[in-house]
Amino acid sequence: MNKSITGIHHITAIAGDPQANLDFYTGVLGLRLIKRTVNFDDPSAYHLYYGDETGTPGSIVTFFYWPGHSARGRIGSGQSTAFTFSTPVESIGYWEERLGRLGVDFRRVTRFGEETLQLDDPDHLPIEIVGVSGDERTGWGGGDVPAEHALKGFHTAELTLHAAEGTERLLLDEMHFRPVRREGNRSRFEAGPGGSGRYVDLVVDPSIPSGLDGAGTIHHVAWSVPDDATEVRLREKFLAAGHQVSPVIDRDYFHSIYYREPGRVLFEVATEQPGFTIDESLDQLGASLRLPKRYEPVRGQIEKILPPLRIPEIKTS
Ligand code: ZN
Repeated sequence: MNKSITGIHHITAIAGDPQANLDFYTGVLGLRLIKRTVNFDDPSAYHLYYGDETGTPGSIVTFFYWPGHSARGRIGSGQSTAFTFSTPVESIGYWEERLGRLGVDFRRVTRFGEETLQLDDPDHLPIEIVGVSGDERTGWGGGDVPAEHALKGFHTAELTLHAAEGTERLLLDEMHFRPVRREGNRSRFEAGPGGSGRYVDLVVDPSIPSGLDGAGTIHHVAWSVPDDATEVRLREKFLAAGHQVSPVIDRDYFHSIYYREPGRVLFEVATEQPGFTIDESLDQLGASLRLPKRYEPVRGQIEKILPPLRIPEIKTS
């Protein structure tokens, strides 16, 4: 069988204040800061990556920062509209207690039979913690959340769309996803071996306004492929099906192509390699500011512009 997309690689969102964002994703959700770098297109702004211990594809959450009130976005159609994270079903009680203790409002819902806690991040981006049984991924236990309760990575990528037909066709015909189940206006598909971290949920809502990029919104969803050859083959397939696709772009930690799916959500395909230890050792991930090579000569200026960040301590056991 030809290699193809195996699941989610990373999801990138836009936040306002980097310190509030860092405190929430590490201090409340317990993710590891795995890379501290700058936006490739605007080195005066941080690009922070969170994930499990190594930044395994499927666990990677990344943020750009657009400060100021005018940079607020609007959540709506044509976007990915929530971060959903997987935790063991037995850990939902731990998360209820933890969120309560930290003063984070949440509500409990059940969807596709899965107990889910819904909350907001500091930019009002919807977050869901989903109780999943049989997710064999390992969450990171080096932060404030013990390993047995840690978030293991994304559960699904939720897309909100005015209509799903074009997106479904792309998922099934070009991206090798398979239908899993449907409930009301939500349909779930899965890629590769299937299961948590390899799902996409399409939510159809013709009445919701179109989303606008800005702080508090998700910018794009990246899908994981095992190698460069698979990425190039997929790119040719998308082009042959009439989609506009970017050239392959070197993002230092992975190689990427970008395209807009028919429902207007920005998709990326990203390679598993080379990964986040290409420029830092595993125990030092996120410890220092890493710059794309072309910005190294102006490191001094960039460090002056970037706001200082308080970086969480890593527990050594
Ligand atoms: Zn990306």
